[in-house]
Amino acid sequence: MKQHPGGVAKGERIVIAVDGPAGAGKGAVCRAVASRLQLAYLETGAIYRALGLLALREELQDADALVARATTMPFTYRALGAGVFGAFLAEEEVTTALRAEEIGQSASRIAAIPAVRQALLAFQRRYGGSQHVILDGRDVGTIVWPDADLKIFLTASLEERAERRVRELQGAGKNANFTEIYAAMAERDQRDAGRTTAPLKPAEDALLVDTTHLTLAESIAHVLQLIKNTLNQAGFTCRESFVESQ
Ligand code: C5P
Repeated sequence: MKQHPGGVAKGERIVIAVDGPAGAGKGAVCRAVASRLQLAYLETGAIYRALGLLALREELQDADALVARATTMPFTYRALGAGVFGAFLAEEEVTTALRAEEIGQSASRIAAIPAVRQALLAFQRRYGGSQHVILDGRDVGTIVWPDADLKIFLTASLEERAERRVRELQGAGKNANFTEIYAAMAERDQRDAGRTTAPLKPAEDALLVDTTHLTLAESIAHVLQLIKNTLNQAGFTCRESFVESQ
């Protein structure tokens, strides 16, 4: 059994790390493959967003207050149905609230504080218990699970990511201004990639998947195949809709 540098054992399970910038499709791809292969799934950004939400609600400003809240916030992430996952603070479902642009910006600001990141690590490493697990975020393959069995860096051009966000908002009946969304995404990219602690960057052994010219279905199919190969190589029988240990 491989020992994690943080002291948490990976155990007899497959850990898949999917990192990349905002809007690359990580969430949609991970939800689909987790559901098809019955993997536990954690969108690590939701943890940072949940703390970002509490920071705004409770006007938490200094690092000590944020760290204290990070260790007490009653955050859970649950599978609610096929391909549907929800984020909760105690029994309050915050999945939709967390998607707001101001929460993303708040999350990105607090995520640059090293002590906050440290406080949120144990939750990410414990997640899924003994189940195979897929996690998406910015530093899963570099910091959270540097010995993950498969690391994918999912990306797309900034233009394409901004366009996808516009389509998503318009699809939900909301106003969307491409120029504003493009600028906000560029700002968040810069903050996430430029910070000194756990910056957004591909792990050296990550497989780069550029989805700029792929449809969502093509992106899912590609990632699904990479995961199946990893499961098979590790000796797990892998069929659609379930994975069983040999
Ligand atoms: O992935 P998502 O856009 O929901 O993440 C929101 C913010 O949380 C990111 O912009 C990033 O600053 C932060 N984050 C992080 N590390 C992660 C996941 C998210 O710093 N593993």
